[in-house]
Amino acid sequence: MRVENPRVLAAFTDLGVEHCPGERLADWTSLGVGGPTDILVIHEPRHMPELVRLLDAEGLPRRFLGGGSNLLVREGELRWVLLHLSDKEARPKFHGNCVRVAAAADLGRTVTECAKHNLGGVEGLIGVPGSVGGALRMNAGAYGIEISHFVKSVELYRAATRTIETLPSAAIGFHYRHTSFAAGDIMISAELELPEKPYEEIRAAIKVCNEKRRASQPLNEKSAGCIFKNPPGASAGKMIDELGLKGHRLGGAVVSERHANFFVNRFQATAEDLLGLIGFVRERVRQAFGYNLEEEVIVWAD
Ligand SMILES: Cc1cc2nc3c(=O)[nH]c(=O)nc-3n(C[C@H](O)[C@H](O)[C@H](O)COP(=O)(O)OP(=O)(O)OC[C@H]3O[C@@H](n4cnc5c(N)ncnc54)[C@H](O)[C@@H]3O)c2cc1C
Repeated sequence: MRVENPRVLAAFTDLGVEHCPGERLADWTSLGVGGPTDILVIHEPRHMPELVRLLDAEGLPRRFLGGGSNLLVREGELRWVLLHLSDKEARPKFHGNCVRVAAAADLGRTVTECAKHNLGGVEGLIGVPGSVGGALRMNAGAYGIEISHFVKSVELYRAATRTIETLPSAAIGFHYRHTSFAAGDIMISAELELPEKPYEEIRAAIKVCNEKRRASQPLNEKSAGCIFKNPPGASAGKMIDELGLKGHRLGGAVVSERHANFFVNRFQATAEDLLGLIGFVRERVRQAFGYNLEEEVIVWAD
């Protein structure tokens, strides 16, 4: 989707939006696949209602791109412009046990900034790539915790009311890698409440999590983390491993030898290679174990 109307481009400038035309999603996602579209980098989130109104009036369909670490995007020209929050001024603001953090902020950096203020609890999120906004949308979690355990409120552009609102955590449905936010909702910032802990204790817990990740995940390869959600009481990775599918290759996509639920783009994979591998593995698991695995990775393929 390309924006060429000079009046709309001028309006972007007025709204603090930087227009990046024809960006390949392969360059913006950790899996390294995906075709071109215009990316609109938003520097003034408070103008979100006006921006959305402008896009709607122009008939420009939109989607939201965070850090791109949980996305599998198809090849070819995309049908949506992508909104992306800039992270330039994203510094957490502390008051007591609480921290206000911009959705654009890097999640890992947020964990370490909190540690410096003796606020912990979120150590398990240290190696989850991407933004705070993406983590809120996905309810990211690792090593026994989820970001939702610490959310007090979320400030967001709500598609339903077309305004910026602050929702208390109790008004949000947070589930395993799923939230009740509507498709058009856009996270702007969040208030987290974290337990106080000595810095050294937090640092030690972060070190343990980093070591566990390095030992079990293909961190030097292009991936989107776990491809499938774990069904209740079962492990998708364990089932894929038991089927002997580690190292299984389709085109340029490979089931990681380090972690069977990570599919890596090793040989210039296309989205079709990755989708084909997902379909193949899902079918093998269904036949062998009776589970119909649901994707954790968000697929933009239509
Ligand atoms: C090596 C590796 C390890 C990983 N380990 C974990 C792990 O341990 N646990 C885990 O949960 N995940 C893990 N992931 C997956 C991924 O990092 C998380 O899902 C992450 O929270 C996604 O954040 P993002 O900013 O990259 O979102 P994106 O990938 O950009 O987007 C994901 C979804 O969130 C939406 N979104 C993003 N930002 C916003 C916003 N501001 N407003 C509205 N919608 C938004 C997008 O539209 C999309 O639907 C891993 C990924 C990799 C590559």
